Amino acid sequence: MRELGRVTAVSRVYESAPVGGPEQSAFFNAAALLVTELDPLALLDALLAIEVGLGRVRRERWGPRTIDLDVLWIDGLAFDHPRLRVPHPHLTERAFAMRTLHDVAPSARDPRTGAPLTLDAAAETQALTALDASL
Ligand code: ATP
Ligand code: CA
Ligand code: CA
Repeated sequence: MRELGRVTAVSRVYESAPVGGPEQSAFFNAAALLVTELDPLALLDALLAIEVGLGRVRRERWGPRTIDLDVLWIDGLAFDHPRLRVPHPHLTERAFAMRTLHDVAPSARDPRTGAPLTLDAAAETQALTALDASL
């Protein structure tokens, strides 16, 4: 990811139980804050290429995967395209997404409303375990 721009912050890693999809093991979630010259679709393509490079094979929706790289939020940008929606459409309902975003961008705002993207009660309903930063 460092080849796509400048990584200016990295969140802690949070373990969460899988939501939906088949029986599978826990997920490890993290976010990076990237300063990049890439336009949003070029960024998406670069992330998808990294997934392929790391051996991700798309089988079942929401099924087990080696890696999943999503664009959660871009400062000040609302983007609606068949291949890319920013902020991520499920951002505010996923505790692991809100928590990792908050780690790297605590003052993030919703680009449409200007409201702060805070960790509200709904987002805290999913149990998360922060792994020790030294792991
Ligand atoms: P979810 O949306 O529930 O997180 P997922 O990450 O498991 O789903 P994938 O199979 O990884 O879904 O991605 C399907 C498609 O979603 C991608 O090919 C991409 O075009 C599209 N997509 C739309 N918005 C985004 C976004 N913000 N970040 C990443 N992919 C996105
Ligand atoms: Ca995802
Ligand atoms: Ca994805």
